[in-house]
Amino acid sequence: MALDIAEIRTRFPILERKVEGRPLIYLDNTATSQTPSIVVDDIVYNYEHCKANVHRGVHALSQEATERQEHTRRRVRDYIHASSVEEVIFTRGTTEAINLVAASYGDRFRDGDEIVLTVMEHHANIVPWQLLQRRKNIKIRVALINERGEIDLDQYRSLFTPRTVMASFCHVSNVLGTINPVKEMTRIAHEHGAAVLIDGAQASPHLPIDVADLDCDFYAFSSHKMYGPTGIGVLYGRKELLETMPPYQGGGEMIKHVSFEGTTFADLPFKFEAGTPDFVGIAAFSKALDFIESLGLEAIEAHELELLRHTTERLTNEIEDLHIYGTATHKSAVISFLVGDTHPYDVGMLLDKLGVAVRTGHHCAQPLMQFFGIPGTVRASFAVYNTMKEADAFVDALKRVMMILH
Ligand code: PLP
Repeated sequence: MALDIAEIRTRFPILERKVEGRPLIYLDNTATSQTPSIVVDDIVYNYEHCKANVHRGVHALSQEATERQEHTRRRVRDYIHASSVEEVIFTRGTTEAINLVAASYGDRFRDGDEIVLTVMEHHANIVPWQLLQRRKNIKIRVALINERGEIDLDQYRSLFTPRTVMASFCHVSNVLGTINPVKEMTRIAHEHGAAVLIDGAQASPHLPIDVADLDCDFYAFSSHKMYGPTGIGVLYGRKELLETMPPYQGGGEMIKHVSFEGTTFADLPFKFEAGTPDFVGIAAFSKALDFIESLGLEAIEAHELELLRHTTERLTNEIEDLHIYGTATHKSAVISFLVGDTHPYDVGMLLDKLGVAVRTGHHCAQPLMQFFGIPGTVRASFAVYNTMKEADAFVDALKRVMMILH
């Protein structure tokens, strides 16, 4: 059944905002999505009624706060089809989740080992591995893409050698929108004995995630891109691997017993959750999952893809010299583009004056920009609350911008 977008919009007070005296058209959802009242209200409720530190107190408030946090862990387990809550680790976001794996799982890598990344990775899935290179003499090999922005699977396969220990790649590209064949990529990596981390930051708001079906070893994503609170992310890890990994950070909550002679660590998942977590946000994250599930990911995706199809068609037909980066057959609702030789910042700034929020620049994917030989792009990205009217207003605004710039 089609979604009632007008009704959905009423749940996002920020969408009533005006920018430069015009109704806000928010097309920067890839960077972060907006948050419905049900999530904001839950944050307020937590602060006003049950703020107490988790896992530490015997008193009622602490137990309530703990239960609210652990409720979200169970919700996440079910959302991604993990087999147990021990496999769900709360982090600050996708970035911290990947850093955790690079630092902790990477601890076992030996000089000469190799890892495979792709050219379309966000810096969050490049730099942690480069930091590891400071400690270990490992080699990074890079999978390339075709002109549509799709992984060249033959070239990807050819990168694996007996020294490959890890493959780490995004499920969906934050620039190109490409939905990667991650199940196949995982299978190839496993065939070569390499572990697999999937950066799901751009998949989790749009696509169903089934870590059991994907058979990946790690899967990372962020709440703030899923209509949830900022500062919270999830690392899924296969239990057998997590059990063999050293802690990422040390501190409270992650220990069994501490003495100056030695320390023993807590069981999973707490071994990887040192310090006080953002338990208020984690609790409220379950409301964002409720929001997504009440609409249904299939319906969300269908709506977003209709916006993508319509906008792409109009942009291509009506704007001269427009080039879209990322035209994969399997693509999510992200449009990165340049028009002639106009600079992305000029286009973005003028669109802002017309009330349209898009992102400009390298989108934390500088190697991808180098691959295309461009400084950056303008990027419009859709979420469930965007309307056809907004898509049309964006294209019309871009036409005006091009008139101004020429
Ligand atoms: N990976 C991808 C593909 C992303 O798009 C992003 C953010 O835009 C990240 C990782 C980093 O996410 P976060 O900043 O929430 O840690």
